[in-house]
Amino acid sequence: MISLSLAEIAGIVGGRPHDIPDGSVLVTGPVVIDSRAVTDGALFAAFAGERVDGHDYAEQAVRSGAAAVLATRPVGVPAIVVDDVVAALGALAREVVRRTGADVVALTGSAGKTSTKDLIAQLLQRSGPTVWPEGNLNNEIGLPLTALRAESGTRHLVLEMGARGVGHIRYLTELTPPRIGLVLNVGSAHIGEFGGREKIAEAKGELVESLPDASEGGIAILNADDSYVRAMASRTKARTVFFGESADADVRAEDVRLTDDGRPAFTLHTPSGCSAVILRLYGEHHVSNALAAAAVAHESGMPADEIASALSEAGTLSRWRMEVTERADGVTVVNDAYNANPESMRAALRALVSMGKGRRTWAVLGQMAELGEESLAEHDAVGRLAVRLNVSKLVAVGGREAAWLQMGAYNEGSWGEESVHVSDARAAVDLLRSELQPGDVVLVKASRSEGLERVAAALLDDA
Ligand code: ATP
Ligand code: MG
Repeated sequence: MISLSLAEIAGIVGGRPHDIPDGSVLVTGPVVIDSRAVTDGALFAAFAGERVDGHDYAEQAVRSGAAAVLATRPVGVPAIVVDDVVAALGALAREVVRRTGADVVALTGSAGKTSTKDLIAQLLQRSGPTVWPEGNLNNEIGLPLTALRAESGTRHLVLEMGARGVGHIRYLTELTPPRIGLVLNVGSAHIGEFGGREKIAEAKGELVESLPDASEGGIAILNADDSYVRAMASRTKARTVFFGESADADVRAEDVRLTDDGRPAFTLHTPSGCSAVILRLYGEHHVSNALAAAAVAHESGMPADEIASALSEAGTLSRWRMEVTERADGVTVVNDAYNANPESMRAALRALVSMGKGRRTWAVLGQMAELGEESLAEHDAVGRLAVRLNVSKLVAVGGREAAWLQMGAYNEGSWGEESVHVSDARAAVDLLRSELQPGDVVLVKASRSEGLERVAAALLDDA
């Protein structure tokens, strides 16, 4: 973070200094919400959570070196007291980003934000100092915390924007106004909460509505293969750039295929040339993510061959997303337990099958959460797809939704032993331990709430 005095910070966030003998003391960053992450010169933002109240850790934070605490009440140590810590973090982030002059790239979409953010960061880093969130910091707290890491030399600031409702993205774009806005897709993630795909599109499109005019350098990067995203072109005054496999896309992939070990390969076409790409990431859904990242890099002036070689070297930076580990006994574990939705389930199943050519494949799948009325049909469809793709064994893990997965599989083919339903992760591990054979490939995937990474971890512990 750029250095700011406590007095300046109080002014920016409209806070009241308490127990601050010297307002000229500098905060040099970082801004943290976990007192254990405090380092010298940090600003500790105290949140009152359900279980712990950050205010109780204020003294400890200052003892560990924090210059002050951002809090909603005096805490007996130097504090800037505000009514709303979230709003104060946002105001501070807005001012810090403005002062750094960093070029802000923001992305949203139903699936692939974190993966694509990691790809974009790996590409843009080649053209200058880049700041991006670790993991999944995409809400009204995580986004400012990331933005506050920008320094005066930061050239690119890459921000993931998540939405659980209409208005959320607009709020985030007001904190850190992007020049480049990227929309990946409008899928069915959180569809239950939103109330339909149109509503999701309405919410995601707030990103492109916020962009500056084309004449001021605003660029909207849109997925040409997704009709909801394509239609967002009419909601922006920015210049539009399309990516996808559609023939009319500005940045597109041709000859898309999966290599024998399941990695997507394609020819990248950009307005500045074309070049071959073999991704290090598994799953064909990453073709779309890679094209989106390529479009961002192209707009920052990177030539096609450099984009292609950077993409071919880029790995995943965030945990539990198609993490492929080979055990000593030749069992391959594919941990995609970070999250799941219908689109990513289908992509992961196809990746499993291409990785498992000539080998036994296991799909250990759990609930896809928050699908609302579509839940039964979507679980049923994933179960059926597993059969159609010839996955060797389906282990559906969990409650009612897992039962729907298994019923889908059962109804699609004459499956008996090939599909089983177990109640929880532990039962899945027991079953796999007794049945896995050397050379098997095991995909583990479900929504975050299911915690199926425990299954992958247990299988890897056995190695
Ligand atoms: P969140 O809403 O949790 O922040 P996200 O949009 O950041 O999710 P990722 O974390 O990158 O998305 O990926 C989440 C899941 O979606 C993973 O299981 C991944 O395999 C899958 N996925 C990634 N990209 C795509 C895509 N373009 N289309 C469909 N599924 C995808
Ligand atoms: Mg994410």
